[in-house]
Amino acid sequence: MTTLSTATEQGAVLEHRLTAVDRCDSCGAQAYIAAEVNGSELLFCAHHGRKYEEKLRAVATSWHDETARLAESV
Ligand SMILES: [Zn+2]
Repeated sequence: MTTLSTATEQGAVLEHRLTAVDRCDSCGAQAYIAAEVNGSELLFCAHHGRKYEEKLRAVATSWHDETARLAESV
């Protein structure tokens, strides 16, 4: 069994909580990344999460990344 190696990267990563009903704000694909900005949560798929990660991390108060789940299911 493998464990998530980056779970403590930021010290604020939560357990898996994104589900199939959580959708990317940009394209509507299933969300794997959630970023909290100015008190509101933005959801992104793996593609857009990576695309906007650099900008978002600069302003986000929390960063939740479940993209590791993608590797498990491929
Ligand atoms: Zn997307």
